[in-house]
Amino acid sequence: MLIFPNPFKMVKAAWPRTSASPQAIQVFPCSNCNETINTSMQQCTFCSAPIDPVAAQHAAEKTAKISQACSDASYLKIMVGCALTFFVARFSPFLTLSGFAGFTFLEIAIPVIVIRWWLKYCSIETNDPDFTQAKLSASYVGGGALLFLLFVLTGRVAVHALGFEFNSVQ
Ligand SMILES: [Zn+2]
Repeated sequence: MLIFPNPFKMVKAAWPRTSASPQAIQVFPCSNCNETINTSMQQCTFCSAPIDPVAAQHAAEKTAKISQACSDASYLKIMVGCALTFFVARFSPFLTLSGFAGFTFLEIAIPVIVIRWWLKYCSIETNDPDFTQAKLSASYVGGGALLFLLFVLTGRVAVHALGFEFNSVQ
């Protein structure tokens, strides 16, 4: 039997969460040597540069946000893979209904999550290659979703136009 991943669970996982509590020890890159250190330190263990606790807190929050952005973007990619699986399943005689239900759900959920991703993470300024990659994934997914919606819309308009022509001929 073919087991589909649960799209509801995926959306829940991809939904941006609130940041971790500020009291917790968080990691961030040292502003001097760029090594990963944490907010409990007074000075960098790698280059001995003094750490400003306020700046460290900001840097740690940014680091947490970046890693969240990356994991949310990778969930988005998984969701697109699932949407394609559901789309193909629609054409299978036994899975038409579950394929249709899953695809329709993701067709709405994916654009919503892409928009939330951009609203939440577009202001991040970083040279982090993982974040650049995540941003690229989110762009592709967003662009793909937009193209797909345009395609569906054009298809419907075309069907209507042809339908009217067909009626007027009769
Ligand atoms: Zn350092």
